[in-house]
Amino acid sequence: MSETKWEAVVGLEVHAQLKTRTKTFCRCSTQFGDEPNSHTCPVCLGLPGALPVLNREAVEMAVRTALAFGCTVHEESIFARKNYFYPDLPKGYQISQFEKPFSSGGSVTARLEDGSEREIRLTRIHMEEDAGKSIHTISASGTAVDLNRCGTPLIEIVSEPDIRTPEEAYGYLTRLRQVLLYLGVCDGNMEEGSLRCDANISVRPVGREEFGTRTEVKNLNSFRGVEKAIGYEMERQISLLESGGKVKQESLLWDAERQSARSMRSKEEATDYRYFPDPDLLPLVLGKQWIEQIRQNLPELPELREKRFGKQYGLPARDAEVLTARKEVADYFESTARLAPGTEPKKVGNWIMAEVMAAMGEHNIGIDEVGVNPEQLAGMFALVEQGTISGKIAKQVFEEMIASGKSADEIVQARGLVQISDEGELKRIVREILAGNQPQVEQYKSGKEQVFGFFVGQVMKATRGKANPQVVNNLLKEELSD
Ligand code: ADP
Ligand code: MG
Ligand code: ZN
Repeated sequence: MSETKWEAVVGLEVHAQLKTRTKTFCRCSTQFGDEPNSHTCPVCLGLPGALPVLNREAVEMAVRTALAFGCTVHEESIFARKNYFYPDLPKGYQISQFEKPFSSGGSVTARLEDGSEREIRLTRIHMEEDAGKSIHTISASGTAVDLNRCGTPLIEIVSEPDIRTPEEAYGYLTRLRQVLLYLGVCDGNMEEGSLRCDANISVRPVGREEFGTRTEVKNLNSFRGVEKAIGYEMERQISLLESGGKVKQESLLWDAERQSARSMRSKEEATDYRYFPDPDLLPLVLGKQWIEQIRQNLPELPELREKRFGKQYGLPARDAEVLTARKEVADYFESTARLAPGTEPKKVGNWIMAEVMAAMGEHNIGIDEVGVNPEQLAGMFALVEQGTISGKIAKQVFEEMIASGKSADEIVQARGLVQISDEGELKRIVREILAGNQPQVEQYKSGKEQVFGFFVGQVMKATRGKANPQVVNNLLKEELSD
């Protein structure tokens, strides 16, 4: 067959649910998982005569997001009606933004496995409201509908077709989610639908300018799923084109279980949404000052924070990346480092990445639920710094801190874990060990130096790990050189 080299052209449309307490145009709660249809009112049910009132908090979150991605925020934008008929959409239209979104431009920096970065441009971010949810599993005879989600605020983040590989799509989404979480505007939970992604995919021979015909893959419910679906669709389109066929512009539904996509509707069947400005809503006008105020209050964003961690704390690149992946972990690290000035930040970081994050993973909990706060962790470091406990005992103490909520001090006192640094006492133990292991002493003296570790181990065992390793080392050398 041909020797054509192909590349993918991908643009992603991400819907992020904003973490407001109430819906976009009414005061109903946005709480997830409550009794179906318990959070509804005439506005979100679309009853005649009910009028929408825009939620200021939703606008603020949307603007914060746009500013974080370097988008231009427009002082005037228009809410439009997107008309279509579906049981989960009682009004018969969704309020969205079409011709004049509140923001455009901006970019997301995707990081790839090898550490390199790619800048993916954004087309726009606009505001819209969510639809309800059809439930097909309640009865065999029909479909039920839950309108609790109806009217929940969303932002749609549309990328330019700048993505070239499945991996770049994964990196893009990971960064996007990370920033949304840093901003506190979205909980990023894909299972609960707070973050949804559609992928527009086409392929073209490497070197060609024009884009090929694209398909749109929907129902992607994980970032790895997006990556898989793009790979699948690339292959399908390439083999279609190589065998002389044509890609049909259509929407496909991803089936995660079967790892394949099936047709949903073709372009001819595509709905004409008959967009028009919503006559119930005035143009959205944002004050310059208000926008600037939101910009001033942006938190330090992950990319900058990661760089700063490297510089300020002398952390290796990989540590800085892991420690800033989540804002709460980064905050926790900084608090602990500040409260434990005697401990090297690298060591603080290691401890968090190993012990604290292990506890988080084990119980699938957030860092604030681990049960040891930065003050308590710093208290444990202080004991190590003072030589009260050894690094080895520290691990044991930490585990008990998690289990009991007690401070390191309390645990060390109560359990008699104070490190033994007293030379006299340790010398007695060292001598006992050497006396009881003559064959090994002979081996050592005849040049087999590896047995030194064995002696250290024996002393540690005899002291239940409490011996000061440095003192033990010195004493052993002394005694063995006689
Ligand atoms: P629609 O209104 O159908 O959603 P848009 O023009 O707004 O279409 O584009 C939606 C997404 O499709 C954007 O992310 C855009 O980057 C992407 N896109 C546009 N053309 C192509 C193409 N030929 N191949 C892949 N993606 C594309
Ligand atoms: Mg689309
Ligand atoms: Zn309502």
